[in-house]
Amino acid sequence: MTNFADLGLAEVLLRALAQENYTTPTPIQAQAIPALLQGRDLLGIAQTGTGKTAAFALPILQRLLDDRRRPAPNTTRALVLAPTRELAAQIADSFRAYAQFARMSVGVIVGGVAHGPQIRMLAGGLDVLVATPGRLLDHIGAGHLRLETTRTIVLDEADHMLDLGFVVPIRKIVSRLPKERQNLFFSATMPKEISTLADDMLRDPVTVRVTPAATTAERVAQRVILVDGSAKRDVLLDLFSDPSFSRAIVFTRTKRGADRVAQHLAANAVGASAIHGNKSQNQRQRALEDFRAGRTRALVATDIAARGIDIDGVSHVVNFELPETPEAYVHRIGRTARAGATGAAVSLCDNSERPLLKQIERVTRQTLEVTDRRTASGSAAEADAPRRPPHEHRRTHQEPGRVTRHAGKPGEHARPPQQQQRRPGNPGGRRPEHSAPRSRVSD
Ligand code: AMP
Repeated sequence: MTNFADLGLAEVLLRALAQENYTTPTPIQAQAIPALLQGRDLLGIAQTGTGKTAAFALPILQRLLDDRRRPAPNTTRALVLAPTRELAAQIADSFRAYAQFARMSVGVIVGGVAHGPQIRMLAGGLDVLVATPGRLLDHIGAGHLRLETTRTIVLDEADHMLDLGFVVPIRKIVSRLPKERQNLFFSATMPKEISTLADDMLRDPVTVRVTPAATTAERVAQRVILVDGSAKRDVLLDLFSDPSFSRAIVFTRTKRGADRVAQHLAANAVGASAIHGNKSQNQRQRALEDFRAGRTRALVATDIAARGIDIDGVSHVVNFELPETPEAYVHRIGRTARAGATGAAVSLCDNSERPLLKQIERVTRQTLEVTDRRTASGSAAEADAPRRPPHEHRRTHQEPGRVTRHAGKPGEHARPPQQQQRRPGNPGGRRPEHSAPRSRVSD
């Protein structure tokens, strides 16, 4: 089986990988790294959890090492664009972890924080810059960053960039790059606008497609509680009376809803904090750290805020409200099934949300176990009677023609599951995920 040394990586990188306990390249790494080392463009159709960050970070670092030169002031040798602040920070952490013995300068530019330190950082020149598009454009416009010498560009989670309205900013950024460059393009899905962008950017790319071994929906035990809207908070407290709800992410549809639910939990002795777009970066960070460290049992989040969250050992996902789209549902429940783990998800569904539930069942091709806890009824048929255990309905959901390179399978990496999920250089720090409403709040 291929190992990292066979892929042609330098000893300084191999040493860092050993330190991170990476023994075997994941399928996307095995396929992408050799092509990228040759300087090819790449189209990676892959979700988070497949090891895609290392798939691009390692060859980029290797090529920077092969051509050692100091970056000029106000330039970066490689640029990675990411949709959210949290993802940008996590990608930079990965670069730093892999480059820990290689003396590379790695910087992050995101919105929501002061400009001054970023301007000073850019003035020094960087080997690798990871950025969200909005703030990056501000710096380019103000003359703090020039891209004429940037030879490598990575677009990560391009479909989320589209969701967040970043396609135009990305095109502006790309137009500043030199013609001679290496383009890496990653997206979990390829909606039309994204495939057009990919076509415009990529030259004769190698395409690597990786799908997880089992879909998230198959790996998460899911159930639904039908409940009156006004009783949701009580039902939520009931759920937390079960000690197995040791680390739960509770999703709400609105920021205010997130605050209210977090306050309600906290007022009833369930440690909780809220994370959403109106919170400062520091507040978000603190909420995440408290949750990661087990100081709070519940993290109450909106979909967009939750994109940057990638935390090990989430016991449950609770949908306090169902999301607007089935895709968002799949991404939410995926929080409890990181890196091949299994998890549990509970959705509180009131009458007005029944159509959303139907849609979720249709798209995920499963019938969810439903318990009826409504007081005013007319629902005897479903009362407390699971319609059918969900596992009987779980089905592999494979699009026709999709190449199945299994990745993210439990046990596929040599590390024990707990460790597998750890983000390098950022213990417990985790990644964002997919689709959310089309609004731009992350940058
Ligand atoms: P990613 O898809 O880049 O978000 O990676 C998912 C998780 O897998 C991260 O926590 C990585 O640190 C971890 N990981 C990536 N590549 C490997 C590998 N070859 N062996 C073990 N863990 C890995």
